[in-house]
Amino acid sequence: MRHTNDVVVIGGGLAGLAAAAYLGRAGRSVALVEKAHAPGGRAATQESHGFSLNLGAHALYRGGAAHRALRELGVRFSGGAPPGSGAFALDRGVLHTMPYGALSLLTTGLFGVAEKVEVSRVLGKLASVDAAPLMAVPVSTWLQGAFRSPAVRRFVSMLIRLSTFCADDARQSAGAALYQVQRGVRDGVLYLDGGWRTLVDGLRDAAVAAGAQILTGARAEQVELQGGEAAGVTLAGGDRIRAGAVLIAAGPRAAAALVPGSPALARYAERAVPLRAACLDVALSRLPRPRLNLVLGMDRPLYLSVHSNVARLAPEGGGVIHTMQYGPERAGGDAERALEDLLELGQPGYRDALVERRFLPSLVASNAVVTADGGGFAGRPGVRVPELAGLFVAGDWVGPEGMLADASLASARAAAEAILARRALEHAA
Ligand SMILES: Cc1cc2nc3c(=O)[nH]c(=O)nc-3n(C[C@H](O)[C@H](O)[C@H](O)COP(=O)(O)OP(=O)(O)OC[C@H]3O[C@@H](n4cnc5c(N)ncnc54)[C@H](O)[C@@H]3O)c2cc1C
Repeated sequence: MRHTNDVVVIGGGLAGLAAAAYLGRAGRSVALVEKAHAPGGRAATQESHGFSLNLGAHALYRGGAAHRALRELGVRFSGGAPPGSGAFALDRGVLHTMPYGALSLLTTGLFGVAEKVEVSRVLGKLASVDAAPLMAVPVSTWLQGAFRSPAVRRFVSMLIRLSTFCADDARQSAGAALYQVQRGVRDGVLYLDGGWRTLVDGLRDAAVAAGAQILTGARAEQVELQGGEAAGVTLAGGDRIRAGAVLIAAGPRAAAALVPGSPALARYAERAVPLRAACLDVALSRLPRPRLNLVLGMDRPLYLSVHSNVARLAPEGGGVIHTMQYGPERAGGDAERALEDLLELGQPGYRDALVERRFLPSLVASNAVVTADGGGFAGRPGVRVPELAGLFVAGDWVGPEGMLADASLASARAAAEAILARRALEHAA
């Protein structure tokens, strides 16, 4: 069977759905194919016994590209900002008050006096340091030059991990990392009521209202090329969809596999280093320590946050906690055990209140670390695939703006604009 559209979008995560909505609104006929049984990709939320569990800890950066695009497309969401109180740093097995202001810095046992003086300067400085000249500098090099005390370096490295999901300080661009930290410090983040599914549902509704056709359970096998131009997509099972433009809104390896004839996509796939996280997500009927909000590992790449303390994710009295080990393949050891121990430390006796437990050993938080070697954001591929007219990409590994979902939605918007700007866009015969 052959269908004809202006554009085929491959991938129904946030990026693909947003691009379909933008293109549909501009009057283009769009078919979106998603291989899973439902759209959402990594922004999916599991509903169970009245609890909403995201695929690992998810926070929306206020004022970032994702926030802007969602507002622009009329997607409605609500949520709460995690507070600075009830936050702890875990160092050598001991929980210390997290220094987030003058009083907590004064009272925390995390640092000695000289280190406290340095940290007080750091907290003021992080928000204002110029990130642009540091794009080609690795985080580790910048930390070494900027801070005297090893404990303060570990503290700043921990804040960078929290904002970027990257525990690889030798590879990550300091400029890109600082950009992300500054966004978090300046505007804060939101945990979303009902989980990120609200974003998926909102974007899907926006795309459908704009006339886009969303096909689930539809795996794209190959992008069809004709005379050096993208001409459509072949699906598993043999169906073909012809189109004047194809947008791949999936990861770099999936993109390269879909277009074996593209040296550019092969290069991107080879260069991209994914950021992984081991995630233990739990739903509890009650919280043993209701006032504890956050634990961050200072000497180990660990994270625990009670998302239900500020967002509607659990029935009355219950709790949803996300824990993570960043870069499990680098951290070594038994991630599941480490996260269970972290939960027991933060919420003692949590097992007695367990309603749901889900361990995911290796989720891809981002398809590509923003590297110093690549010169920071500028090193990421653009939305147009070189050498192949009519072929575009979007996702967290594409474009010069932002990280994580911000990069996905910024590149989705840019790809839609590039497709609309294409002079030769017409219905494929
Ligand atoms: C543990 C974890 C924590 C995170 N925390 C945050 C956070 O705090 N803040 C933040 O901004 N972001 C966070 N993210 C990242 C965020 O989830 C992603 O940036 C965003 O969801 C990516 O959307 P996407 O559409 O670019 O990619 P994806 O969600 O990966 O979507 C790609 C889609 O393409 C489909 N697909 C692939 N190949 C094919 C094919 N051949 N045919 C058809 N369909 C195909 C896939 O099934 C998938 O649905 C986190 C991610 C994880 C895993």
